[in-house]
Amino acid sequence: MDVDSDYFVTFTNLIAIIIQSIHTIMKTKIKEQFKSRFGEDGILFVAPGRFNLIGEHTDYNGGFVFPGAIDKFIMAEIKPNGTDKVRVYSIDIDEYVEFGLNEEDAPSQQWARYIFGVCREIIKRGGEVKGFDAVFAGNVPLGAGLSSSAALESCFANALNELFNDNKFPKMELAKIGQSTEHNYCGVNCGIMDQFASVHGKKDNLMRLDCRSGEFEYFPFKLDGYKLVLVDSRVKHELVDSPYNKRRESCERVAATLGVETLRDADMAMLDAAKDKVSAEDYNRAKYVIEEKQRVLDVCDALNRGDYDTVGRCMYGTHEGMSKLYEVSCEELDYLNDVAKECGVTGSRIMGGGFGGCTVNLVKDELYDNFIATVTRKFNERYGHEPKIYPVIVSDGARRYEEQ
Ligand code: ADP
Ligand code: MG
Repeated sequence: MDVDSDYFVTFTNLIAIIIQSIHTIMKTKIKEQFKSRFGEDGILFVAPGRFNLIGEHTDYNGGFVFPGAIDKFIMAEIKPNGTDKVRVYSIDIDEYVEFGLNEEDAPSQQWARYIFGVCREIIKRGGEVKGFDAVFAGNVPLGAGLSSSAALESCFANALNELFNDNKFPKMELAKIGQSTEHNYCGVNCGIMDQFASVHGKKDNLMRLDCRSGEFEYFPFKLDGYKLVLVDSRVKHELVDSPYNKRRESCERVAATLGVETLRDADMAMLDAAKDKVSAEDYNRAKYVIEEKQRVLDVCDALNRGDYDTVGRCMYGTHEGMSKLYEVSCEELDYLNDVAKECGVTGSRIMGGGFGGCTVNLVKDELYDNFIATVTRKFNERYGHEPKIYPVIVSDGARRYEEQ
């Protein structure tokens, strides 16, 4: 074994030990609370947040996304209680809520509505949910674009599928239960990616999801010699003129002009042939979407070859497109991207819808420490606060918790 692989083994072991101790601390807190509130032991379940390597604003255009589950998660201890009431305590919010399982029993607390919604969506699909007791906690940062809400939904959807339904709902249905929960009980009209990734995640793998057909494929993502890190700008620009709806409308207009159902079915030759029939702005929006669809496919091919330079180039391509063509970036995110380039980072781009949140960065091992120090210092000098740094370890999806 040479020195490099020795280092790698040590580093990997270290990460595993850190992850395990985070699990243990959370598990101990949850078990203590559960025992003192409900007097006995339940079963532990976990479900992770997610990141997306590439494929942004592609879901509503019938294209591809390429997410993976991360090592930040919701953990819940749950036990049927033989009544028709759900009793649940959130450790992080320090709040206890009880609710029934009929439509009119919706709790007013937002966090509890995610759980109530999952129960209701299972029942609406002909599944069974009876009363249960639960205590849960999590470490997915809220609202940072890592989908803490999907982690919460997937954790309970998976648990209630096992505890009351003999696992009769397939994984994709569990994801849809989470998505419908957001639509019908939380007022968030989201796509399927977050819940899909939280349910299907697999250690050291990313998943390419075809948002048109619902089919997906795992791609090994071992990251030999590289690290993946999210840099959270901690800014979120609230915009008045619903830019998301406007982007969607642009895409729909161009698709209609080209005579296709969604931009998934369009290519650059078709778009260029219709250039004088669409506005300059709509042309740019559609160009980004068409190029982004191809970038996801190129990244998957590159990963199969272990060609991280191409992966990185595509990530920068996405950032450029989101900034200049789709116009969903902001000054802070463009600055993070510039600093990444200066530091020799292999790939960097906005992650999520835009206008704030995180960049996702693919960094060579030997450049990592310098990048983190530089981006933290420079961002702070310019914007008066430090970005948050979240190293990403690609992890398993929703499951019953078992000690590793
Ligand atoms: P995100 O982008 O992280 O999904 P959302 O606003 O969609 O942000 O969801 C965050 C909401 O999910 C929180 O306001 C809370 O209601 C719920 N939530 C997430 N994590 C937890 C947690 N650990 N404990 C309690 N509620 C949580
Ligand atoms: Mg969410």
